[in-house]
Amino acid sequence: MHLLVTGGAGFIGSAYVRRLLGGADPAGARVTALTVLDALTYAGARANLGPVAGDPRLRFVHGSVTDGPLLAELLPGVDAVVHLAAETHVDRSITGAAPFVTTNVLGTQTLLQAALEAGVPRFLQVSTDEVYGSIEHGSWREDAPLDPNSPYAASKAAADLLALAYARTHGLNVTVTRCGNNYGPYQYPEKIVPRFVTALLRGQQVPLYGDGLNVRDWIHVDDHCRGLQTALEHGAPGEVYHIAGTAELTNRQLTSLLLAHCGADWSSVRPVADRKGHDRRYALDDGKLRALGYRPEVPFEAGLAATVAWYRDHLEWWHAAVD
Ligand code: NAD
Repeated sequence: MHLLVTGGAGFIGSAYVRRLLGGADPAGARVTALTVLDALTYAGARANLGPVAGDPRLRFVHGSVTDGPLLAELLPGVDAVVHLAAETHVDRSITGAAPFVTTNVLGTQTLLQAALEAGVPRFLQVSTDEVYGSIEHGSWREDAPLDPNSPYAASKAAADLLALAYARTHGLNVTVTRCGNNYGPYQYPEKIVPRFVTALLRGQQVPLYGDGLNVRDWIHVDDHCRGLQTALEHGAPGEVYHIAGTAELTNRQLTSLLLAHCGADWSSVRPVADRKGHDRRYALDDGKLRALGYRPEVPFEAGLAATVAWYRDHLEWWHAAVD
């Protein structure tokens, strides 16, 4: 099986590729070729693929999902596209939304069209719980209406709708996944876990938005990758599947845990004005994917401890990004 993974040099994409080629996911045994297509924005780095760089099945292509002619070269013969490439940071989408529309909306449409023209038999659109907006109680099911609040979430919602439209209009074999907040190694230090850990390890203060009571449902990146593989192999065309988190925490609770892991206390926390349009809570019901056999395997406490240890042990990886 020949896979094309877009955004494969980013946080989740590189974890997915390392798991398949490194043997952590048994599905990797069926992979005969794996092409990573990545534009290497600030968030992507070839070093993230270092542990599997010598695998003869891996081909790295430096390019953009908005580049139709490049896609027309790459896609013939590909058995499945796993589409993770995106602009992903909500704060950046608030200060400048244009790259989010270009990559997430136009890039996804360009990739869908190229997959259709090349006759690619399978397409996985990787998306987020943020497309539903905020939920006070309970959890979203896959048929909930989309109500995104940030430009990031709106661009992902648009991409999901385009993906589903290609399934319905053209019969492209597309499945969409939507996941909660990921944590794990190799995450660019702008998102809360690596940002806080890398600052606390340097003895710096960390900024906590608003009252700190916004709730997120955390999932280890390896469990997200397990969910992606389940959806890729068993998901139905034109359907959406949730990959829920395993630990629902307020940002204050998460901060408390990170302070403890890094040997710091609340004097290291600086309250800052809330993020504009900050969603209060996200929560997903993942029963539909569990019915296909998916189970998360990483207990949150152990996963978070291992993640903090990874950043502690990989100063050279994140120093370049934060200095
Ligand atoms: P990331 O920002 O770490 O990585 C994104 C990757 O995409 C980078 O390697 C970047 O270079 C690449 N990229 C950006 N623009 C590109 C373009 N035009 N063409 C090709 N490559 C391009 O993101 P991530 O956290 O790994 O997220 C991956 C996917 O998962 C995204 O689609 C995101 O919406 C989704 N997702 C993320 C989370 C999360 O918590 N991080 C949760 C749910 C869903």
